[in-house]
Amino acid sequence: MSETKIDTYFHNPFEKTTCKNCGHHFDSLQPTCPKCKEKSDHPRANPLNEVTFANPIIEIILFLMGWQGIRIFAEIARNIIKNRVNSGLLDANEANMVLNYTVYGILFVILMGIASIYIPKLFKSFAKSTTLWGFLVCIAVLTFDIVWGNISSILGATINENQEAINEISNMNLPLSILFLAILGPMCEELTYRVGLFNFARRFNRVVGYITASIIFALIHIHDFGSLNEWLSFPSYAFAGLAFAYAYEKWGLGASYLAHFLVNFLAVLINAR
Ligand SMILES: [Zn+2]
Repeated sequence: MSETKIDTYFHNPFEKTTCKNCGHHFDSLQPTCPKCKEKSDHPRANPLNEVTFANPIIEIILFLMGWQGIRIFAEIARNIIKNRVNSGLLDANEANMVLNYTVYGILFVILMGIASIYIPKLFKSFAKSTTLWGFLVCIAVLTFDIVWGNISSILGATINENQEAINEISNMNLPLSILFLAILGPMCEELTYRVGLFNFARRFNRVVGYITASIIFALIHIHDFGSLNEWLSFPSYAFAGLAFAYAYEKWGLGASYLAHFLVNFLAVLINAR
């Protein structure tokens, strides 16, 4: 199957192929046998997959951990921090910042741990010059943001809750907000939504992968499903999810991370007072 051809079939996400050289069973999407490096002749094997796919089970765990695990950590951290606020050690804004950063820090360590055996492979793309396409993807995301921002403000949209929360905490401590919101946060989201969700969903079918990655990435950024204002930010996040998935599929984690990092980094800088 060529990379750009639209695949209309649904596949088994756990499908394996057998190496004709050594008999080893491995992921049918991998271009070469991981044991003897023999080239795979499976129709879904693709050289681009060398640095993008992990293992279907790891992909599901990464997605579930980054998507729902984060809520559990946030709940635990909120209870611990609540006591500090009640005893007057932190004010409400500081508590919010500590809470957000603690959760991202814990999630980052856990996700890197889950993906650890694939980290050398996934990070290979950072050393390639194609990673620089991330700049262009960042420009595409920002352009869409500006255009849609203008349209949605005509429709009456004001700032969405996700952006407001970021603005509030990014004003408190610039170096910390760069570290957590621009450097670690995007890595957590890339591991969750590209390495995890997008990878797993496109095992069924490439189009399903793009639709799922885009819609779920947008939904997690909506904080109140009953608010029209929140829904007006949906297209921006859906486009970003689509653009990051494209960058990931075409050039690897390096490019999707660079694009995501730049978008968040600029947002932190613009909001900094
Ligand atoms: Zn082999």
